[in-house]
Amino acid sequence: MRVLVVEDERKLAQVLTAALQAEHYEVVVARTGEDGFFRACAETLDLVVLDLMLPGRSGLEILQALRQRHLQTPVLILTARDGVEDRVTGLDLGADDYLVKPFALPELLARIRALLRRGRPSEALRLKAADLELDLVARRAVRGDRALDLTVREFELLEYLLRHHGHMVSREMLAREVWREPRRATPLDNVIDVQIARLRKKVDAEAGQRLIHTIRGVGFVLKEGEP
Ligand code: CA
Repeated sequence: MRVLVVEDERKLAQVLTAALQAEHYEVVVARTGEDGFFRACAETLDLVVLDLMLPGRSGLEILQALRQRHLQTPVLILTARDGVEDRVTGLDLGADDYLVKPFALPELLARIRALLRRGRPSEALRLKAADLELDLVARRAVRGDRALDLTVREFELLEYLLRHHGHMVSREMLAREVWREPRRATPLDNVIDVQIARLRKKVDAEAGQRLIHTIRGVGFVLKEGEP
């Protein structure tokens, strides 16, 4: 799998390269908008990690040019904390996902795995753990032979936990990625806890095996067996 990283911050580009190479991706780095634009259009890539604030052409211009040329390479954009408008514009222009800086590397890697899986439809449209199954197209959740009646937020929350199946998810990750709140706050923590409790009741209450676990002081994990 070949990933293009378009990022002008030298240190961050190095960190991203090392992390991606450790996961056995082939990495190409572009440090300017011009170079990123050229490589994105000219090279064969499986994914583009695209910073928006770049010298030369901006990330949004690169994205727009790619999509105008009908190149459907998945694009994950990196946006500044206060760049809400850029984020929305990016998604409108055809970005597949975004992360707000600063982000945790495991989060980036999970998103990249998810985007690359999405390219293979049969796997991407369903998420499973034990007898729990999420159909992302029909937006249906089933535990065993029982359909779960979930709210939109509960579905998103469960999808997020399933995408991180077996890995710890912090309240901060949930605040940022499910609630789309860049800043974590105590009232939001309480909301998250309440939502998790409701979701757990629907998912686990009548099942033989618990899947959603709380890790005290840290967060949550969706996992078969004890955490
Ligand atoms: Ca930048």
